[in-house]
Amino acid sequence: MDTEEAERYLLGDSPDPEAAELEEHLLICAECRERISETEVYLSSMRDAAEEVRAHPGDTDWRLAHRFSGVAAGAAIAGFGLIASRYDQNYQTPVEVRLVDSTSVTAPAGRGLDLRFDRGGARLEIVNAAAQTAWRGALAAGNRAVVPRQRSGTYLVRVLSASGELRHEYRLEIR
Ligand SMILES: [Zn+2]
Repeated sequence: MDTEEAERYLLGDSPDPEAAELEEHLLICAECRERISETEVYLSSMRDAAEEVRAHPGDTDWRLAHRFSGVAAGAAIAGFGLIASRYDQNYQTPVEVRLVDSTSVTAPAGRGLDLRFDRGGARLEIVNAAAQTAWRGALAAGNRAVVPRQRSGTYLVRVLSASGELRHEYRLEIR
């Protein structure tokens, strides 16, 4: 995955087959997962800068130069208007979903999910009805995980220990 593809994906601009392919690739490629999270940080700093510019029109060049000092400065300022406005239109914050043991929770399809668990663990595995892994990743501090959009269906969300033992299992309906 290159930076352009990562950007398209995060902006919600990838055509469906490309998005599906990227999501599958992300399961197996740590390097691209890293690129996605770097790009996300970059895009959200652009969005913040766009808000700053709107809040303080005029006198903006130094602000941008300051924010993007370093390698990215030239490219960031050149692409700034376009990307910031697309990001504003398309970016949707992940939907917060609270998972509580032994209850079934419903979440919307086509949105990133900010999963919050009532119990701890080290890793997370989301398995679809066909027993295929839909997503896999680490559980962050506060027992949270931000997960890319998933298709409609019934999923099992498994919280695992660092060594891969099943700690808790939650049922998640996406529709
Ligand atoms: Zn890759």
